[in-house]
Amino acid sequence: MTPTYDVAIVGGGIIGLAHAWTAVKAGLKVALFERHARATGASIRNFGFITVTGQQRGDFHALAMRTRNIWLEAAEQAGIAIEQRGLYISARYAESEDVLRAFLDTEMGAGCRLLTSAETPFLAKGQRAVLHSPHDIRVESRTAIPKLTAWLSERADLFYGVTVTGVDSGRLATSMGEMRAERIIVCPGDDLTGLFTDRIKARNVSRSQLQMMRLVSPGFRLPGAVMSDLSLIRYLGYADLPEAVALKARLEAEHAAQLANGVHLIVVQSADGSLVVGDSHHYHDAPEPFTSEAVDQLILDEYRAVLGSPPPVIERWSGTYATSTDQLFLIDQPLPDVRLVVATCGAGASTAFGIAERTFQSF
Ligand SMILES: Cc1cc2nc3c(=O)[nH]c(=O)nc-3n(C[C@H](O)[C@H](O)[C@H](O)COP(=O)(O)OP(=O)(O)OC[C@H]3O[C@@H](n4cnc5c(N)ncnc54)[C@H](O)[C@@H]3O)c2cc1C
Repeated sequence: MTPTYDVAIVGGGIIGLAHAWTAVKAGLKVALFERHARATGASIRNFGFITVTGQQRGDFHALAMRTRNIWLEAAEQAGIAIEQRGLYISARYAESEDVLRAFLDTEMGAGCRLLTSAETPFLAKGQRAVLHSPHDIRVESRTAIPKLTAWLSERADLFYGVTVTGVDSGRLATSMGEMRAERIIVCPGDDLTGLFTDRIKARNVSRSQLQMMRLVSPGFRLPGAVMSDLSLIRYLGYADLPEAVALKARLEAEHAAQLANGVHLIVVQSADGSLVVGDSHHYHDAPEPFTSEAVDQLILDEYRAVLGSPPPVIERWSGTYATSTDQLFLIDQPLPDVRLVVATCGAGASTAFGIAERTFQSF
């Protein structure tokens, strides 16, 4: 007799895990299916930067704040360390400072403030203004995701190395046979050619590929994550402000190569002092197998301008996530008891738990 679950979840990335967490917390009988022996996708390759500051104003910002709060709860229960708290956004251009000041004047700026250079000795000379936000946190994804998975494995049935090949009302066809569940939630990440391909294509979803590096410890602790001018035209909480128009024009004139490669700067620090530094953005459905040294150098150029001479690189990798210009995330309803959930921007780790709550509200 095939077991019947209250909820079956497809995908062991952070979106699938957040749905499993929400279901377990609601006392439901949960099964989760992940095709790989362990998660190896975007959720492992990312910065682990749970970003509230700069998310799109309104609902998405609130979703990130909610997710940050649940991450804190999940971290405590699953034994996940919060590696860093807070964000420093450094601006070296007058136009960037205008954006930061305009941001501070919105409700999104609550709790944030501009710092003096005496408060930011870790930054290179030449920074004009620095905004500090206390809202953001950082986890080490490559250990946090396995720890969250281990916590769930004691409370739900997790099937790793099992591919789901078909979903119908109440039933999943899997590589280990048919499984049954009253509700099915498909969280396939950027798998655009698997389940519900037509529905994913209809929502104009493609893939973004990012290059990332780990640098040896610079010999000092960063008090929080660091971002810079280039981020202010990428994150919609800043980029949608009228003041960002002038900044965009300046960056297009003075940083054309970085913008052409979707480069902006995020620097976070791990427990051993090493730094995770990125990133770039290239859009295509088939990821490029080979990373570009020229693109890495564009990222390191921005690092140099903000934090000084970069320490040696000890790891390089790339990752992909689902992206769309139509929406930031989707909760689609292929069948009354089935949901297709995709984070379609580079903020899935920052919004996963909030999205999961919305999914369960949608049944
Ligand atoms: C380099 C990089 C840096 C990033 N940095 C950040 C960051 O700092 N903060 C942030 O918020 N976001 C960040 N993002 C985005 C974030 O990582 C993603 O939005 C998020 O991880 C997506 O989670 P997911 O679970 O949808 O996808 P994934 O992590 O890709 O997981 C999907 C899983 O589903 C499985 N799967 C798919 N189909 C099936 C099937 N049919 N049967 C079984 N299993 C299946 C796959 O094997 C995969 O493991 C970054 C992304 C990248 C690539």
